[in-house]
Amino acid sequence: MSSKPLPILPGATLGILGGGQLGRMFTIAARTMGYKVMVLDPDFASPAGKMADVHLQADYTDHGALRQLGAACAAVTTEFENVPAASLIELANHCRVSPGAESVAIAQDRSHEKSWLREHGFATAPFALVDSEAGLDAALAATGAPALLKVSRFGYDGKGQARVGTLEEARAAYREFGGQPCVLEGFVKLECEMSVVLARSDTDECALFPVAENRHDNGILDVSIVPARVSDALVRQAREMARAVADKLGYVGVMAVEFFVAGGRLMINEIAPRPHNSGHYTLDACVTDQFEQQVRALCGLPLGDTRLLSPVTMVNILGDRWHDGGPHWDALLAHDNIKLHLYGKEAARPGRKMGHFNVLDADPAAALKLAEQMRDAL
Ligand code: AMP
Repeated sequence: MSSKPLPILPGATLGILGGGQLGRMFTIAARTMGYKVMVLDPDFASPAGKMADVHLQADYTDHGALRQLGAACAAVTTEFENVPAASLIELANHCRVSPGAESVAIAQDRSHEKSWLREHGFATAPFALVDSEAGLDAALAATGAPALLKVSRFGYDGKGQARVGTLEEARAAYREFGGQPCVLEGFVKLECEMSVVLARSDTDECALFPVAENRHDNGILDVSIVPARVSDALVRQAREMARAVADKLGYVGVMAVEFFVAGGRLMINEIAPRPHNSGHYTLDACVTDQFEQQVRALCGLPLGDTRLLSPVTMVNILGDRWHDGGPHWDALLAHDNIKLHLYGKEAARPGRKMGHFNVLDADPAAALKLAEQMRDAL
C-alpha cells in the first residue's frame, strides 16, 4: 500500500498567503477547477482578495488568522518569498503546506540562497557576503569591479541594489541600505537571461515548462520570448540545472530558476519558490498554465502537460504606461492573437506591475515584433 496522501479534490478550500497578482491568478485557476479559495493579505485592495471566496485581511504573522486559515483549508500555498517561514511552520500543524518552510527560507534570503547554490555546486556570478562595512574591501577584491551590492532580504525587481565601481561607492551604498546584510556580486556581461518554471510533486514527479528568454528594463522583467533563442545545448543545460535545484531542495510546488548567460555559460541568478512573472506566457501558450500547475502540485494531483502550443512573447504592463488617460487598450485588443491580463490594481505607480499581455504567432519573430510595437504604442 502506498503512503501517498489522497489528492485534494474540487470542492475543498485552498489557502494562499499573499494576495498580489500571482495570488490572483492562482485563485482564478483554483476557482475554475471548482476549489474554494481563502486569501490572507493585509491589504484591503488585494488583487487576489477580490477574486477569492474569502479574504482574510490580516498580517501574515497574525496567529488568529493563521488558525482560521489552517482550519478552513485542506492545503495552503504562498505567492511570495517574503512570507515568514514561521507562519508556514505554524500552518503545517493544521493542513498541507507547499512549498515547505525550508525552501522558502533559502529563497527569501539572498546570502543564504547564494551560499546554498555554491555549496551544492551550482554556478553563480562571483559573489561575497557582506555583513559589515569593514568587510567591503575584501568582498570587492573577491568579486572585482564593477559590482552590484544587493540587500539580502526584501529586495525585488532591482530594488535594494546599487551598482558600485569603487570601495567608496560600495561604502556609500552599504550605508544607504542601513548597514543590513548584503551580497556583493560581480557585474556580469550578460549575453542573455533565461528562466525555467517547473513543478515538482510530493512523489518527486517533475514537469518543466519550456525555457523562456527574458529581457529586463531597469531591473524589471520587460519581455519573455518563448522558445528562447539559444542553442539546444543551453536549453538542455538550463532544464537539467533547474531540475537539479528542485531535487536537491526536495521541493514540492511550482518554482522558477532564473539564469544569466555569460561567455556561453549558465549561472543561476535566483530561485523563486512560486510561479514567476516569466511564466505568465503559459497562461495562453501551454496546455497547462503555471497556476493550474500550482493547484495540481498543492493538491497532490498528477501534474499537467506543459507542452507549448504556440510560440509566444509576453510583455509586462507597468504603471508607467498610465499617462494621458491610461493605456490604449483598443489598439491592443484589435489584434486577434493578443491576450490581455490585467490585475485589478487601482493605483498605477511607475514600476508597478499592472498586467501583461501575450502575443501568439506561429512565427516567433512576428510575435516579438508585434509585442514590441504594441508595448511602445500603449
Ligand atoms: P535581481 O533582482 O537580482 O534578479 O536583478 C534584476 C536584474 O538586474 C537581473 O535580471 C539582471 O538583468 C540585472 N542583474 C542582476 N545582477 C546582475 C549581475 N551580477 N550582473 C549583471 N546584471 C545583473
